[in-house]
Amino acid sequence: MGGSAARALTPGSLVPRSPPPCLLVPSMPPPLPALLRQLAAGLTDLVFAPTCLGCGAALPTAAAERLVCGRCWSRVRPLPEPRCERCWNPHPPGPSPPPCPLCATLPAALRVVRSAGVMEGPLRELVHALKYGGWTALAAPLAQRLAALPLPPDVQEEARLVCPVPLGRARRRQRGYNQAELLAAAFARQTGRACRPELLRRTRATSSQTALHPAERRANVAGAFGVPPPLEPDLQGEHVLLVDDVWTTGATALACSAALRAAGARVVSVLTLARALPELDRGEVPRDRPA
Ligand SMILES: [Zn+2]
Ligand SMILES: [Zn+2]
Repeated sequence: MGGSAARALTPGSLVPRSPPPCLLVPSMPPPLPALLRQLAAGLTDLVFAPTCLGCGAALPTAAAERLVCGRCWSRVRPLPEPRCERCWNPHPPGPSPPPCPLCATLPAALRVVRSAGVMEGPLRELVHALKYGGWTALAAPLAQRLAALPLPPDVQEEARLVCPVPLGRARRRQRGYNQAELLAAAFARQTGRACRPELLRRTRATSSQTALHPAERRANVAGAFGVPPPLEPDLQGEHVLLVDDVWTTGATALACSAALRAAGARVVSVLTLARALPELDRGEVPRDRPA
């Protein structure tokens, strides 16, 4: 498994880092005959053979999507079953599962938590490529994994607003984009919902969560998010889908959810691409790089 950062500058696939592809074309070129276009694409592939962002393998020219190979998509591991219906936290098998330890820490207004897969293997590589490697074009195919997550009927019907976890201003400037916002926007487009990134903002800078243990993480982000008062009317009575790339301890999502609730949202559900399972980094500092 090669590091995604090492491939970040591979010129073969779609455009790494913003601006979006459409902005790279200064003016509309004259239309080329299809044959010539195919020839040009073939030559480009010869020179810059696109490789999979999950595993580094060469991608076939005919691949439907020129970023990730089919094998990597098939290796994304869903959260293991049996799992809690509400938060999808895996629990030991048995006729009567014990009370969910994660749910015990969640506020009643948090309706469900869903994640597309376990934070490991190709999914870890793809999350990192989106987050640190500038591969913004990954947002749409990754958001399809969010859109495919089964939601209870009430969530499916009620939740109309999609809100990404915001990045701090400094980090956003540094990275040039917020990966959660790209995911949320693509997910909203794909599911016919409204993406409202302006609803949440960071009200103070927080330290990186990376080296912190769960209790420290919660303290670090508690009260770090807020809703601009002029936007509060938009949230009244709403069920908001909060989108982030990774759920590690849930501290950030819970702080965002508390801010949305305080501003008038009735219920919040959380969708993340990946989830770090406790058994994978039990008692250890999570291996992820800074948020
Ligand atoms: Zn692959
Ligand atoms: Zn639970």
